[in-house]
Amino acid sequence: MKLILLGAPGAGKGTVAKMLTELDGSVQISTGDILRGAVQAGTELGKQAEAYMKAGDLVPDELIMGIMEKRLQEPDCEKGFLLDGFPRTIPQAEALKELLDRLGIKLDMAVNIDVPREVILDRLTTRRTCSNPECQAIYNVKSNPPKVEGVCDKCGSPVVQREDETEEAISHRLETYQEKTAPLVDFYDKEGLLLTVQATSSEAVIDAIKQKLAG
Ligand code: AMP
Repeated sequence: MKLILLGAPGAGKGTVAKMLTELDGSVQISTGDILRGAVQAGTELGKQAEAYMKAGDLVPDELIMGIMEKRLQEPDCEKGFLLDGFPRTIPQAEALKELLDRLGIKLDMAVNIDVPREVILDRLTTRRTCSNPECQAIYNVKSNPPKVEGVCDKCGSPVVQREDETEEAISHRLETYQEKTAPLVDFYDKEGLLLTVQATSSEAVIDAIKQKLAG
């Protein structure tokens, strides 16, 4: 399947994407994971992105489109892809449309995961992430802690709080989402690709997607 996952930070895009990869071999493409990997590896891309990310600001569209243009042409995307955290602005959505047209790729849908603000705030302040750039497994200190505190179940690396998950950075990321990313809901509605799911459980989101794909 070829899906875009829309939704505020903490809406569950990453969790839903990971669950969907297990259904049909589609790959999860998270621009946030790619950027965090680049920051940790100290690459040129990482150096350019780091200050924006720390502040909870969006990285410039040109950098993101450079990443995605290459990534979408890698062979593992042929089976399908789940775009998690991209596009984030109208110019990115327009550039993606042009890129997919050029590559002859058709999207199935854009899923808007709509979760109440209180749930988002609670999730983001209690979220913890594996520090290994190759893993980046997600935990929650309340609902899904690692078996050994601070240690990733999957790879044994330290599990940490992301630098952009302080209260100040979170509220800035949510404002940025409202201003820059929320307009994409209308964009994909007009494209006839939108599925909005109001659900706080990832299983319910997956069910709604399966139903829509089947119908
Ligand atoms: P995420 O893990 O998706 O919350 O992304 C973490 C941070 O990476 C964001 O707050 C942005 O600074 C940056 N980022 C990720 N994806 C994008 C994107 N599509 N456009 C611009 N910045 C992005």
